[in-house]
Amino acid sequence: MADLDSDVIVVGAGNAGMCAALAARENGTRVTVLERAPEPERGGNTAFTAGAMRVVYHSADDILALVPELSESQVNETDFGVYDEAQFFEDMARITEYRCDPHLVEVLVTRSLDTLKWMRTKGVRFMPIYGRQAFKVGGRFKFWGGLTIEANGGGPGLVEAEMGAAEREGIEVLYGARALELLCDDDGVHGVRVREGGRTSELRSRAVVLAAGGFQSNAEWRTRYLGPGWDLAKVRGTRFNTGDGIRMALDIGASSYGNWSGAHAVGWDRNAPEFGDLRVGDGFQKHSYPWGIMVNAEGKRFVDEGADFRNYTYAKYGRRILEQPSQFAYQVFDAKVAHLLRDEYRIREVTVVKADTLEELAHKMEDVDPQGFLKTMKAYNAAVRTDVPFDATVKDGRRTEGLEVDKTNWANTVDEPPFEAYAITCGITFTFGGLRITTDAEVLDVDGEPIPGLFACGELVGGLFYFNYPGGAGLTAGSVFGRIAGSSAAALR
Ligand SMILES: Cc1cc2nc3c(=O)[nH]c(=O)nc-3n(C[C@H](O)[C@H](O)[C@H](O)COP(=O)(O)OP(=O)(O)OC[C@H]3O[C@@H](n4cnc5c(N)ncnc54)[C@H](O)[C@@H]3O)c2cc1C
Repeated sequence: MADLDSDVIVVGAGNAGMCAALAARENGTRVTVLERAPEPERGGNTAFTAGAMRVVYHSADDILALVPELSESQVNETDFGVYDEAQFFEDMARITEYRCDPHLVEVLVTRSLDTLKWMRTKGVRFMPIYGRQAFKVGGRFKFWGGLTIEANGGGPGLVEAEMGAAEREGIEVLYGARALELLCDDDGVHGVRVREGGRTSELRSRAVVLAAGGFQSNAEWRTRYLGPGWDLAKVRGTRFNTGDGIRMALDIGASSYGNWSGAHAVGWDRNAPEFGDLRVGDGFQKHSYPWGIMVNAEGKRFVDEGADFRNYTYAKYGRRILEQPSQFAYQVFDAKVAHLLRDEYRIREVTVVKADTLEELAHKMEDVDPQGFLKTMKAYNAAVRTDVPFDATVKDGRRTEGLEVDKTNWANTVDEPPFEAYAITCGITFTFGGLRITTDAEVLDVDGEPIPGLFACGELVGGLFYFNYPGGAGLTAGSVFGRIAGSSAAALR
């Protein structure tokens, strides 16, 4: 053991990897983090997030435990509601069509609050998501959709806080260091082969934690596993998550698990670049479709934009957009709802057309059949149940009736100028398939046995998400299983 380079090597310096590193370090364990990206591009997908985290809470006191900085008047003018274990569990089950692994989900749900409190002890700060997840009703902020907390400073703030903690605690982080393969024999994993500065070397350790993200940035794997057409999706986040961690583990006999043909994918600006741009962050997303309608190149609607709160539909609608002719759609709004549009609709890098009549708008919407669009609008406007009041804070049941694709909540007529139409395509966030782990984050082999010395956490874990995803669960899953993976790895003697 004397010639070990480190006790625990963590592959990937996103939220999951850094939680693993911080947890492993708690017992004085030597920890080395290998990060493929150069330092200016550090933070993986985590850096691109808004930092929203889904967490169990039973009262305003639980929120206060995470955000003690809240003033009494802020607490008094906010209705946080409750999001208990049963609601989180039910959301995971319903959203994944009852496919998610109940053992992993139980850990995710029951450890969520405690893990965020632990992150606070490491210097991460949180805030209620007043801007995006609350509406003012009768003078009070009311939260909706089970998503209430975000990291201060969003994803960049979270990365900053975790990296700061790592530095304070003496965790070594090597940038531009790409793990290539696991060093392994009959006794298990003993380190990694790594490429750094054009040279390949071996780093030996007692344990390795894989936290290198999914395979969304690998166009070939996307096409191979998600299916034809997925090569044409844009990547919302880091260009470095190409499936390395998954491949390295499969190469030594790890078991694949979860929804390998599934991915989190959203509506994303049609002219966004191939990969995410840290200057724009998540600004290319366009998540206000529940207040308007979406049409494809034929001018036809193709989803129920009001099927549920945005948190519960946005992650599966990217796939539906990819399936449309030429892989794009327009989101259309009128003046009645313009004030409800999220900040991301007002960024400089937005593809939008505006007009004072629907006819004019139809001709401005590039590549859309104007006649088809106008026909859709006429039928849609006539089908809205205007007798039901509109209420953005609840599933209001204000719907259309009799359309081929009805809109079942928040259906407003689109008839008040000016009109706005935003061009979107499919933006992939992360892939759902990955490795099979135990509730102690040990990686299992194809025979169902733990591979000694190998742990995993974050996006590359399979079994949590299928078909869809409840907003804010990705970071929380990374934190919960990251912390467990780090502790398990450090406990290995
Ligand atoms: C635009 C956007 C917005 C999002 N918003 C939210 C949100 O608000 N809330 C939420 O819960 N989730 C959100 N997500 C999802 C969230 O980003 C992920 O669930 C989470 O960050 C994954 O953490 P991770 O540590 O597993 O992966 P990452 O943060 O991606 O970290 C993986 C790291 O591994 C590194 N790596 C890859 N290969 C190697 C290798 N061979 N050797 C060394 N290092 C390697 C990568 O460079 C990267 O830094 C969003 C994602 C995107 C893209």
